[in-house]
Amino acid sequence: MDEQVQEQLLETTPDERKTAAEGEAEVVFRAVSKSFARDGQKVEVLHGVSATVHKGAVVTLVGPSGSGKSTLLSVCNLMSTPDSGEVFISGREVRQWNVRELRRYVGLAFQSATMFPGTVRDNLELGPKLRGDLLADPRAYLRRLGLGVDLLTANADDLSGGQKQRVALGRVLANESKVLLLDEVTSALDPAAAKDIEEWIVQLQREQGLTLLWVTHNLEQARRVGTETWLMVNGGLVEAGPTEEFFEHPQHELTRRFLNGELGGAEK
Ligand code: ADP
Ligand code: MG
Repeated sequence: MDEQVQEQLLETTPDERKTAAEGEAEVVFRAVSKSFARDGQKVEVLHGVSATVHKGAVVTLVGPSGSGKSTLLSVCNLMSTPDSGEVFISGREVRQWNVRELRRYVGLAFQSATMFPGTVRDNLELGPKLRGDLLADPRAYLRRLGLGVDLLTANADDLSGGQKQRVALGRVLANESKVLLLDEVTSALDPAAAKDIEEWIVQLQREQGLTLLWVTHNLEQARRVGTETWLMVNGGLVEAGPTEEFFEHPQHELTRRFLNGELGGAEK
């Protein structure tokens, strides 16, 4: 980690991060339900999820595989729509948003950082170009992503996994998103690269006051980065609370079992 980053991390105390999580609502789920058809049967994968993410919060979302975490992210940017219930982003229900504006405001990054054919520069300029805009200073931007300027003209597909994840997140950030949905963004990386990206995301979040909804199966990561942690099991939100309390004093038996590794889907 470079010195500047370290200084910034030291400047933000855990208490300041907690107060950021008590402000204005940025993402609100109100009784969100969603089903999919499987083998001709209707399977409900979200059951009346109600919760609030405050501006500047980092919510880490954990739960067994198949519990509905990715589906919950998908209803935030109209990748899918709830069957019933509502999702508000910045006070407006998602279906009242213009889809392009919504997807600009709410950025999404997955585990597999897909590169579009072309150079790193092409990838970073994708969003701005769609708006008839330009990335003001691609070299400076690359440095902010923690990538060498020599990579600007490199073929995006030749990058390492960690570098691709930086470019993918850089693409999202070039859209000036205020909310980031992060779906297992460090899962495919080796531990060193994962930690590196994690610290970089946390730094960006603090610099820009971003709101994060961060799915991870790495419980240590969920604890390190979260201001709040939510547990989903079988499409229901079992527990949602301040991260330290979630891990130190879980309120629900299911949470205790999950933290003990009895429900699967978590890595310690
Ligand atoms: P998680 O991210 O917690 O692993 P998901 O949200 O991906 O869980 O999936 C929850 C459930 O919904 C799973 O049983 C999955 O198979 C099902 N599911 C997700 N997306 C679809 C889809 N497009 N069509 C059918 N079933 C789906
Ligand atoms: Mg998932």
